[in-house]
Amino acid sequence: MTFEDLKLLPQILLSLKAKGYVTPTPIQEQSIPYLLAGKDIFGSAQTGTGKTAAFALPILQRLFESKASQRKGIKTLILAPTRELAQQISDSFRDYGKGLHIKHTVIYGGVSQRPQTEALRTGVDIVIATPGRLLDLINQGYVKLNTIEYFVLDEVDRMLDMGFINDIKKIIRDLPAKKQTIFFSATMPGEIKKLSDTLLQHPVTIQVNHGQSAALSVKQFVYFVDKGNKKDLLKIFLQQEVKPHVLVFTRTKRGADKLVKSLTADGIRAEAIHGDKSQGSRQRALEAFKKRTVSMLVATDVASRGLDITDISHVINFDLPEDAETYVHRIGRTGRAGATGIAISYCSQDERGLLKDIQKLAKNNIEIVSTPAFAKTHSHYESKQGSRPEHRHPSGHEPKREHRHAPKHHSMNRNTNQSSNQTASANSTGERKFVPGKRRWNNNWQKKRSNDRSFD
Ligand code: AMP
Repeated sequence: MTFEDLKLLPQILLSLKAKGYVTPTPIQEQSIPYLLAGKDIFGSAQTGTGKTAAFALPILQRLFESKASQRKGIKTLILAPTRELAQQISDSFRDYGKGLHIKHTVIYGGVSQRPQTEALRTGVDIVIATPGRLLDLINQGYVKLNTIEYFVLDEVDRMLDMGFINDIKKIIRDLPAKKQTIFFSATMPGEIKKLSDTLLQHPVTIQVNHGQSAALSVKQFVYFVDKGNKKDLLKIFLQQEVKPHVLVFTRTKRGADKLVKSLTADGIRAEAIHGDKSQGSRQRALEAFKKRTVSMLVATDVASRGLDITDISHVINFDLPEDAETYVHRIGRTGRAGATGIAISYCSQDERGLLKDIQKLAKNNIEIVSTPAFAKTHSHYESKQGSRPEHRHPSGHEPKREHRHAPKHHSMNRNTNQSSNQTASANSTGERKFVPGKRRWNNNWQKKRSNDRSFD
């Protein structure tokens, strides 16, 4: 199927061409005809599937055809859980809507409300917002929702997790009864089912199984590693990789800050992104990462949700997520649009239970990798080793002799030769060449290494 088959406007087809889109993604193929026909949609799809265009294109088309900009008031409201996702959706409307003269604005907290109220005052057709700030502006009288014709709730489950449910219910009360509603949620807990039942009129259900596609396009590995050694394992990884572009997940905001501090102290450029950071600092970190002036972004789940960063080479689960669904979300950040990505998890002993659940959802596709001796304690490593065979990983964490036996397709190195040479010299001379700069750390490496002959 082509975009032409979907009967999209010539202006929209031009914009899609400019974006380099050739064929619609499955969610676009399935949703666009129904949305153009005015149906409500309940969609189960995550970021990375092309769901923004799936709702943005038909909304733009219908607004254009109905000459919406000649009518007063806001015609479309899109609610999203995070500022970053709201901004990305806004950017998509800008790109897809070129030449249609449909005005949109984005509203979120953490920044001055002045430019937002100014934009609203001049009149917009589409508002993309996070629930908290929107409600604030509604209460101050800057936003009226009685002219809404299209209502999109994006990533509803995440909005629920973030405690937005009451804000959403209040916003919904202000909406007119007659409207087209588009509801996206990756999971369907009871409260969401109830909400969708009250909102949607005879919806068409569309499901895109991102979990499966992520499992296919992302190579997944796990290291069993002691908690205290995760940082060092990460530093080695960074030294071994050629131009990595890595998204690292920590469980807590504090953990993200601590990790960035430690990496920075070792001369590694990394930025953290989480809810305690100001919007300006989050935006700067994101930009620096997108432009590749920093190679590593350390994020918590909430902050990273919905981020559309192309070309992420690796996702590293520095801490395993509390639930398996989140694991699938995380690894979906890499391996986008058909590219192959790599997801690496660092599993400490107390995270074994979490890994078990994740393996179940990932259909045991996560390969266990041999952990460098310095990063494991024997009791933890030997007694708790999983039943699956352990594989050597040619990431440079191991001596060259063992690399030779490593299956090629597991390589995380863009430049394997270079890595092998580095490792060879480390082996033959006993030098600690791929150990990051710190002397203290070098000593630890040497001590632990000499205690464990299996490394040699
Ligand atoms: P989304 O799931 O909406 O966040 O989109 C994920 C990524 O896929 C974004 O970078 C989009 O620009 C891109 N994308 C969306 N639709 C297509 C398409 N039909 N062909 C190629 N890339 C697309």
